[in-house]
Amino acid sequence: MDFARQLISWYSENKRDFPWRYTNDPYKIWISEIILQQTRTGQGHDYYLRFIRLFPDLHSLSKATEEQVLKLWQGLGYYSRARNLLAASKEIVSKHNGRFPSTYHELLQLKGIGPYTAAAVASIAFGEPVPVIDGNVLRVISRWFAIREPVDKTEGKKMIKQFLEDIFDKNNPAEFNQAIMDFGAIVCKPKNPACFFCVFNQNCQSLNLKIVNQIPVKSKISSQRKRYFNYLVILFEKNQQKMILLQKRKPGDIWSGLYDFPLIESFGELNAEQLTSTTQWKNYFDGLDPVIAETSPIYNHQLTHQLLLVRFYLIKLNQAFSTSFSFQEIILPDIPKYPVPRLIEKYLKEHNYLKHFS
Ligand code: SF4
Repeated sequence: MDFARQLISWYSENKRDFPWRYTNDPYKIWISEIILQQTRTGQGHDYYLRFIRLFPDLHSLSKATEEQVLKLWQGLGYYSRARNLLAASKEIVSKHNGRFPSTYHELLQLKGIGPYTAAAVASIAFGEPVPVIDGNVLRVISRWFAIREPVDKTEGKKMIKQFLEDIFDKNNPAEFNQAIMDFGAIVCKPKNPACFFCVFNQNCQSLNLKIVNQIPVKSKISSQRKRYFNYLVILFEKNQQKMILLQKRKPGDIWSGLYDFPLIESFGELNAEQLTSTTQWKNYFDGLDPVIAETSPIYNHQLTHQLLLVRFYLIKLNQAFSTSFSFQEIILPDIPKYPVPRLIEKYLKEHNYLKHFS
């Protein structure tokens, strides 16, 4: 039996059960593929259901606001995915009269759709014979053929593409693509692949050469940047309302479009005395008498290429905060309406913040 037939036969008995596998609707397949990038399928499953419930089709999504979409995306990370979904939905409605582009090349023109997503939607929704290449596929193919070129370099990618095209089932592109991704996720896993039970273990070249754990080869050493965030959680009363300050994050940095607290970023860890000596602090609180009521321990928040070391300072003011900075005064109980990064959500949940006014 050739590779494709064996793979599809394995898939027919072992495929994972997901709601997006019961539809050919390109909109729903697109949403699922975008959500599942960089996301565990368990977590992605719940977000998918919530997303489809609120925005069941292209037109409903195209009419949403960025804040609505970001709020729905809250906690999933990589927020540019949500912004791109919204932009692409508007583009399909305005430029394509609401008709979902149906070919790999048309799909590639849309914002946020790269070769992987274009291939997934084109093959699964429209049956176009184009193979997908994601991390699972890179791993399965490089192990099966014992490719020792780094898979993150042009030469390695080219080899994988060629090998993949040789074994790709052009008559069953949707099945083949979903099968190889499931196979990589369930059997040929990054760590401890289930070679003993694998349907390919007779012919897998890496297994025969006993080099499974060395493949795929990667050349990049990921570089990580450390950043030190000092968040000012500023509480005050205004017109007998309990208020807090938030700021909308600007483009060009992490969490663009989400809300967080006024921030002083430093080159290293600061204690309260060092923080209150910074120029930013003095500018923010010029003429005011802030009291630091609570200092949090450091939160380590890992992003793909950045480690954030974050401390929250709860600051109480006896008078209203009026400032020329771009902060927004929010009525405290309204905070849950705003899309915030997962870290801020965690802090707010852990520190029952309403208590500070009681
Ligand atoms: S034998 Fe092991 S390494 Fe080879 S394809 Fe199967 S699971 Fe992957």
